[in-house]
Amino acid sequence: MTVAAVMEALPGLPWTTDPALVRQKSRDFFWYSPVLKRQLNKVTGEALVTPRNEAELRAILAAAYAQDIPVTVRGAGTGNYGQAMPLRGGIVLEMTAFDRVLWTKPGVVRAEAGIKLIDLDAHLKRAVGGELRFHPSTKRTATLGGFIAGGSSGIGSTTYGILREPGNILGLKVMTMEAEPRVLELRGPDLQKVNHAYGTNGIITELEMPVAPAWDWVDVVVAFPTLMGAARFADSFCRMDGVAKKLACVVPAPLPQQHFRAWGAKVPAGHSVACIMVAPPFLDILPSLITSHGGTEILREPSDAAEVPLYEHSWNHTTLQVLKTDKSITYLQTLFPAPNHLELIAKLEKMFGDEVLLHLEFVRFGGTVCAFGLQIVRFTTEERLAEIIRLHEENGAPIFNPHTYTLEDGGMKRVDQDQLDFKRQADPKGLLNPGKMAAWDDPDWKPGKQQAVHLYETDYEA
Ligand code: FAD
Repeated sequence: MTVAAVMEALPGLPWTTDPALVRQKSRDFFWYSPVLKRQLNKVTGEALVTPRNEAELRAILAAAYAQDIPVTVRGAGTGNYGQAMPLRGGIVLEMTAFDRVLWTKPGVVRAEAGIKLIDLDAHLKRAVGGELRFHPSTKRTATLGGFIAGGSSGIGSTTYGILREPGNILGLKVMTMEAEPRVLELRGPDLQKVNHAYGTNGIITELEMPVAPAWDWVDVVVAFPTLMGAARFADSFCRMDGVAKKLACVVPAPLPQQHFRAWGAKVPAGHSVACIMVAPPFLDILPSLITSHGGTEILREPSDAAEVPLYEHSWNHTTLQVLKTDKSITYLQTLFPAPNHLELIAKLEKMFGDEVLLHLEFVRFGGTVCAFGLQIVRFTTEERLAEIIRLHEENGAPIFNPHTYTLEDGGMKRVDQDQLDFKRQADPKGLLNPGKMAAWDDPDWKPGKQQAVHLYETDYEA
């Protein structure tokens, strides 16, 4: 019943037990949340292994199963909610050696799960003039498998929506954690059993993804005297279905001026900005759209030539840019549902003032345009943070709480029965990323009920 016994059974594999390295590979960006920082800071695994092929992966899972050792899978570890952190110790399984493109056709690609998104996009552009439909703002580091198992949406969601929407993942191969691990191919609605399941019910080894046409994207920043001016502009731009676009992000004053080193100094005092990505043939639509919303263009450059691409000022990179100079802030993740999202945004701006700054991403979601908020919150206490969340929800803006590490509390606040049922078949001993699926540990789990989890911690200090 020890990790050492698993390692002894598989001596030829690339194991690491150096405590500093294992601890580093046991972490993600959980520290964006002061709540998770308090809860998870001492969590670590006991050994790290990076399987190089399916045979090695199968051997690790079978040996860990025989010894009842937890296995927590990770890609690049850029998740935000302690998703890839081994709450109960055991083995950290890094998938980055699964990095091959398996085949490419116009419109579809199949690749191994550990491939970096940036490498996959570079391959697609060369091979078929294509790119992934959308990617997280961590494209330069994140893996494909980590995006599917831990992410949701990103740059390109202006056009294609979120991963959960039909057609945005086409197929995947997943390995189970049993005495004799099986490899299953999931397609169609079955994909949702594993999509955004944090690696709790199988290890994804391959993914088949739809491919969009690649453009030489142009980054454009437009300044507006008010947040609502920028929001209305981004909303109108997102509704232009004939325009090839990839980003419609709104960052409120004074965040760009204070925290965006690359171009923030160009933004007039008190102005909020809309950050957009447009394909070159469609740039001609911008002057009249900008003028009609009272904006001023302050930056235009090819995305590839930018010192810091505009997408690294959007989605959760907005939070990162702010955290670089102000460690006292944290953030929320919110849906402003259509059709009244603009009214709701105006109401919440008045309600919270500069305690909650409304960073917004306009997206096409469920067939219509709405806004996701990744608001920057001036953190005071955990009680006030909980109150801010409650006030959003009471006003009709559901929060996908980034201050919790369980799937249910962070998501729709309900048990995903398909994912739970699949875990019963694919991980009968509950050894995959334990502690993240609340309903597995507590069949009576209800929204808001705290989970009693024994954390595997050390007092190691770097
Ligand atoms: P990891 O963090 O390593 O893993 C994420 C989850 O997936 C974990 O639960 C892990 O156990 C599981 N997992 C990893 N690989 C596998 C596998 N092969 N099989 C099964 N489970 C697996 N997310 C977005 O959706 N959109 C954004 O725009 C976005 N922006 C971000 C910006 C910043 C600055 C940061 C820090 C995070 C952001 N994220 C965003 C979150 C995260 O970066 C992405 O979801 C990213 O795609 C995760 O990839 P990763 O390889 O780092 O996964």
